[in-house]
Amino acid sequence: MADVLVLGAGMVGIGTALALQTQGHAVRVLDRRGPGEETSHGNAGVIQAEARAPYAMPRDLATLIRYALGRSNDLRLSPGALPGAALPLLAYFRHSSPGRMTKVIPHYAAIISRATQDHGQLIAEADAEVLIRRTGLGEIFDDPAAFEARCESAQDMAEAHGLDLRLMTGQELRVAEPALTSTPAGAVVWADSWSATDPSALVRAYARLFVSRGGALLSGDIGRLEEARTGWRVRCAQTAHAADHVVVALGPWSPALVKPLGYRVPMILKRGYHGHFEMQGSLTRPYVLDQHGVVLSSMARGLRITTGAHLARPSSPRNLAQLTHGAEAAGRLVDLKGPVANSQWHGVRPCLPRMLPMVGRAPRHRGLWFNFGHGHQGFTLGPTTGALLAEILDGRDDALTRALSPA
Ligand SMILES: Cc1cc2nc3c(=O)[nH]c(=O)nc-3n(C[C@H](O)[C@H](O)[C@H](O)COP(=O)(O)OP(=O)(O)OC[C@H]3O[C@@H](n4cnc5c(N)ncnc54)[C@H](O)[C@@H]3O)c2cc1C
Repeated sequence: MADVLVLGAGMVGIGTALALQTQGHAVRVLDRRGPGEETSHGNAGVIQAEARAPYAMPRDLATLIRYALGRSNDLRLSPGALPGAALPLLAYFRHSSPGRMTKVIPHYAAIISRATQDHGQLIAEADAEVLIRRTGLGEIFDDPAAFEARCESAQDMAEAHGLDLRLMTGQELRVAEPALTSTPAGAVVWADSWSATDPSALVRAYARLFVSRGGALLSGDIGRLEEARTGWRVRCAQTAHAADHVVVALGPWSPALVKPLGYRVPMILKRGYHGHFEMQGSLTRPYVLDQHGVVLSSMARGLRITTGAHLARPSSPRNLAQLTHGAEAAGRLVDLKGPVANSQWHGVRPCLPRMLPMVGRAPRHRGLWFNFGHGHQGFTLGPTTGALLAEILDGRDDALTRALSPA
């Protein structure tokens, strides 16, 4: 039995802590906030069984020019972000080549394909069924040509990965979703995906399960990670914690903590925004609005609209242009009553250029483990990469664990 301190109480840290605990280890989790209050709070809440390939960077000139000119709501680029992000972005561009994607996709598909099963077990054990919808994820299209093209590519994807895909005309969608006020061209629905009506509450439910099984949640703002004579010392503002093994699961904050140990992790911080809106009725599942770069998801606080990526300097102020555009598009589809007070949020997707999370032993230190860089799908993948990390710590070594390895 190992003594393990997990740094970070997001979906990834809590998923890791539960898996290590199941394997019989003594586990503590350390965070400066409560469980699931950062990126694992602000997301669209989708457990994405359909996401069998990671988000590659588009490489065609037309799309890149559209991004550069600010003509797409999927991605906004603030020029001030470029000096800091240029090298990771170049690496991301290289890794997005069709040849490299062919190598990455099988590993990504392998972890995504078990995500609903891994969540399913925790949902049952944490008694969190009330937070979950097993109704799929939809994509809505205004433009008939775009809908037709998507039907074709989605059918290929569904066939390749054995996914349950439903194609719906605009009229069929209106019957299924009485809250719609207009008729789009059509929708594709990925029926295998699930969603949470309150992402933060799901992490909290998993954290309660961890504590009920003897785990400890510690509070502290981590300043430094140091090797001790045996094991590790984690220095916080007021206290220090010793442990034989430390797992870094700090999402976007992970690279900064491991930098003094000599690890330069090239992370791309894709900022995203959300806002909640009151609306007439509710949607039965989340929907991506094609061409508007937002996801609409009915949640406990109203309709949550989450945006695509904004590449900005970490300290730059909020720019609500993508959210405003998304709310206008949503207002043409449902009866939006106005924003919920104090509901705007922004955070960042912790994206690595290789598009696979780093899960495994830190290359140059004993007893130090990484589990971060889950990009667009960390809410989905937390329990799965947590289980993998626990298995790796106990000796698992195969093609998948080597692909995810930080080495
Ligand atoms: C707009 C948006 C929409 C998204 N939608 C989805 C989706 O629908 N489905 C999906 O699967 N994923 C989605 N994602 C991605 C997903 O939210 C992230 O990949 C995931 O939440 C990352 O989890 P994490 O545990 O690694 O990080 P976090 O949840 O950010 O957890 C990191 C923890 O580290 C703690 N921490 C950091 N620094 C310190 C320190 N110095 N001391 C102590 N504690 C510290 C923080 O307090 C935090 O609790 C979305 C992301 C965004 C931004």
